[in-house]
Amino acid sequence: VVLNHWGYDALRPLQLETMQAALTGQDALVVLPTGGGKSLCYQAPALVREKPTLVVSPLIALMKDQVDGLLQRNIPAAFLNSSLDEQDRRRVWQGIAKNQYKLIFVAPERFAGDAFFNLLEEAGTGAFAIDEAHCISHWGHDFRGDYRRLGQLKQRFPSVPIHAFTATATPRVRADIVAELSLNDPLELVGDFFRPNLIYRVHRRGSGFDDVINAVQDRPNKAGIVYCIRRADVDDVTLQLQAAGVQAVSYHAGMGDEQRTAVQDAFTSGRADVVVATVAFGMGIDRSDIRYVIHAAMPKSIEHYQQETGRAGRDDKEAECLLFYSGADFGLWQHIIQKNDTDSADDHINLLGQMYRFATAQTCRHKKLTTYFGQEWDNNNCKACDFCLDGVEALPDSTVLAQKILSCVVRTGQRFGAAHVADVLVGKVTDRVTQRSHDQLSTFGLLSDHPKQMAMGWMDQLVDQEMLNREPEFRTLALTDQGWQVLRSEADAQLCEVVCAKLKKRAPRRKPTSLAASFADAEDFLNKGSKTTRGRRRSSAATSNGQKPHADTAPQPLSPDERALFERLRILRKDIAQEMNAPAFMVFSDKTLREIARHQPKTESDMLAVKGIGPAKYEAFGEQFIKLVNVTPQTNE
Ligand code: ADP
Repeated sequence: VVLNHWGYDALRPLQLETMQAALTGQDALVVLPTGGGKSLCYQAPALVREKPTLVVSPLIALMKDQVDGLLQRNIPAAFLNSSLDEQDRRRVWQGIAKNQYKLIFVAPERFAGDAFFNLLEEAGTGAFAIDEAHCISHWGHDFRGDYRRLGQLKQRFPSVPIHAFTATATPRVRADIVAELSLNDPLELVGDFFRPNLIYRVHRRGSGFDDVINAVQDRPNKAGIVYCIRRADVDDVTLQLQAAGVQAVSYHAGMGDEQRTAVQDAFTSGRADVVVATVAFGMGIDRSDIRYVIHAAMPKSIEHYQQETGRAGRDDKEAECLLFYSGADFGLWQHIIQKNDTDSADDHINLLGQMYRFATAQTCRHKKLTTYFGQEWDNNNCKACDFCLDGVEALPDSTVLAQKILSCVVRTGQRFGAAHVADVLVGKVTDRVTQRSHDQLSTFGLLSDHPKQMAMGWMDQLVDQEMLNREPEFRTLALTDQGWQVLRSEADAQLCEVVCAKLKKRAPRRKPTSLAASFADAEDFLNKGSKTTRGRRRSSAATSNGQKPHADTAPQPLSPDERALFERLRILRKDIAQEMNAPAFMVFSDKTLREIARHQPKTESDMLAVKGIGPAKYEAFGEQFIKLVNVTPQTNE
């Protein structure tokens, strides 16, 4: 069947085992990395079944392509999702009733009511294939409530086999999939997650995106994807790349459908080589010669990271996966998660923490990735990551170095984040350092020969080795029992050189033009389908810098004195945030600062009466803000 319909002369790992399970009617859970060939595993067995195979997938955008591909191979198939109009929907519905298809693709919401279940019962179903099955688990990175309804499939169709497929499932998620789908004695197959042609390197990011721009410039004429967290960052990086002469195009969910399709087509067909994108880009990108995937910032889970980097080097030739991370990425994601995922914020923050530990760990990257997905690892040298290739060895004076750092954490009171402790260690005189008299400490300037980034990286390594504990919300550092042991010379620590992103000089860039002009260029380029517009600029009246003007949502304007206090409060907030190595909004929002400026709380109870300040926030920052309010001259009374 495979040879006749697909023309493949060999099967990929686990495809045979999966298809055998499908044909014997055994339930199965199959974890294969992206590109491992999961679709064939349910498509080929469907051909020899009398009744159709129902494929559940959340990826509506890909269904049409899948169905078109099958129709081209003369395999009767159809899809049912919200993109169909009423007439087409009815046609497919009737086709199912008449048993016309071998494969039917549906979105999970199809099971919302009883009607579709009833139709399947009447028409008969040969098998269920559940794609992206991790969506059923709360522990996964992409939980979808609609998937929970699939739990009913086993009750309603006890004799129909279910095959669940996913590319990313930790052992915990796998157990959850089996339980939620009530799989009956399932065959569990986990593929090989080690891709030796992918070279992983991780760098602590300097300020801005200079490192990212350099990295792209260093890889001319190669296909690559640059992932950013926010749309504004996508626009920013695209502009900077274009200004540096790289013909990069943006892709994010805020763009219109047409424009997104144009970018996707241009990239897939090789007309565009560099796409700067949010996570929205990548599903269904069928380009095998992607030579690099750069993360301009840390993704929010190892699952995302693995999926996104897995798009590189599908042709099995060498490709690079570069991650530029910073502690601030953690704070930003934390904020986004707390804002958007109120029900499952803790689960997502846990996944985020795992990702941060991956970035800061000093172990083989492939080992960390594969073992995260439950695979055994007994390879001493992967020959494909910074740790194994560049020979990161423990520094000879590791323990003494660790003691210097740990003692600075103690001397500063175990109440500060890595950024402030690093300032003290490298001997940087900041306002915060002098205000706290931390320049008088014996640990001030102990690491003055080292850059601050490196001191911060070492603190991350101490966290990874559980010698320092990082408080999850405010990111303050404190010693663990093990840390105290190192400080008392009762145990050793191992610290490695930190790979700081290099700040290389390069030719001056043209100033970024406006975003509107940049899009105009990109559009020109996409429409013309050539690379001839490289470097050309249009003038544009638009002056947008890619960011929306900040909306002031305060109900009443502040008086001039209140306004002045508000500005001072913001400076204090910035100092604290820098100290915590977290974005300012993690301390207080502008709205809360406005409230403080307006009500000028002078005691703890006044402060707790301010909207947006609870006991935890008060405990962390209250006193400093009260102090500022108290020393502020009040001329408006
Ligand atoms: P996944 O869903 O696991 O990410 P796909 O099913 O989309 O992967 O397959 C990825 C690519 O590999 C597709 O282009 C597919 O045609 C191809 N492919 C799958 N199985 C084989 C095989 N046995 N031999 C050659 N190519 C294959």
